[in-house]
Amino acid sequence: MPVDSASIHATGACAGDRGEHPAVISSQPTGTDLKHDTAAPYADAAIPPHVPPPITDRRLDELEAELLALGAPAYRARQIFAGLHRRHVRSWDALTDLPRSVRETLAGAFRLSALAVRDVHRSRDQTTKLLLATWDGHLIESVQIPAGRSGTQPARLTVCVSSQAGCALACAFCATGQMGLARNLSPGEIVEQVYLAEEPGGPRRVDNIVFMGMGEPLANLSAVVQAVRILAEPTGYGFSPRRITISTSGLVPQIMRLADQGLPVRLAISLHAPNDELRSRLMPINRRYPIADLLAAAHAYAIRTGRRVSYEYVMLDGTNDALPHARALAQLLQHQPAHVNLIPYNETGSGFRATPRERIEAFAAVLRAQGVPCSIRASRGRDIAAACGQLKARAERYDASPGERIA
Ligand code: SF4
Repeated sequence: MPVDSASIHATGACAGDRGEHPAVISSQPTGTDLKHDTAAPYADAAIPPHVPPPITDRRLDELEAELLALGAPAYRARQIFAGLHRRHVRSWDALTDLPRSVRETLAGAFRLSALAVRDVHRSRDQTTKLLLATWDGHLIESVQIPAGRSGTQPARLTVCVSSQAGCALACAFCATGQMGLARNLSPGEIVEQVYLAEEPGGPRRVDNIVFMGMGEPLANLSAVVQAVRILAEPTGYGFSPRRITISTSGLVPQIMRLADQGLPVRLAISLHAPNDELRSRLMPINRRYPIADLLAAAHAYAIRTGRRVSYEYVMLDGTNDALPHARALAQLLQHQPAHVNLIPYNETGSGFRATPRERIEAFAAVLRAQGVPCSIRASRGRDIAAACGQLKARAERYDASPGERIA
């Protein structure tokens, strides 16, 4: 399902006690052994030994092993997992099916929550953006995008999550790209963004998850894959990977590593230009992985997973939005099992402007005439700075200058 422009990373536009238990705390990466993340893997994300990791970092099988090492039966791990990922408990005491001794051990070994809500911004169109703080003070963003109506409730809820605090890839049009990379997020810091999108105790449940917030998800692949596995665990949240979309600006080797995980997640390629000269100007990563290599990897991903790849294309006035660009894009994708999402740009102060609606429609008409399916995303959350990185940037300006209001 198409998501809205508010969610697109590439639009720019997109404890308890602090005691340790050596049998519980692991400093090693778990789940996958992925060597090509561009920043440190999540378990190396600068968590000093005296700071317990969030328990939401752990898969069920990891918790079972850790509980067994403590002499507790493995089924306790299932109770803990259900409490964390199904009931979203907010205190250790709320895990009432556990003996007090197990709760105390857990509280000494783990943090219960990975994130704190710093601010909530709700748009007139009901898009909601959360500004969230990590344990070490980094600010990240997640966006909730309701769509359609079913009675008094939205028919669908999509949540857009961040995978890194900041981003190293420096796309020219992106607010996050101007910040640089602070660090990778841990799996728990990713999954909790999803849970925070649900109304506490309420009926609203997330229908789609898109990794299109701050950061390049495939540069933090081990944590992203771990988060998908945690979200999918039936004992917990039980979220189908088929309703998860992972976007990339084009880390070609990691695309095939993602395909190797056996997870049927959708892949979205942030393309944004139909030729290497323009794409390299907009997205420096293209100098390392040019369009031909990227399309070949996307095609291989589609064949391996059986899932059609979508291509994101942010419409930048006077830059990539002329009809010859549309014809060149159609030529590139004509023989791919592809779908193009044209994204109205949310202006970020980076010097780019949004393409007027009628020119986006003309661009779309060229693609369709050439047999390339495409959609035009609804523009959402403009009044709350909903493009990725905008809210964090504004919050930092606010911190520096108390006279300015946020949103
Ligand atoms: S890859 Fe990074 S810099 Fe590029 S659009 Fe995504 S978040 Fe922004």
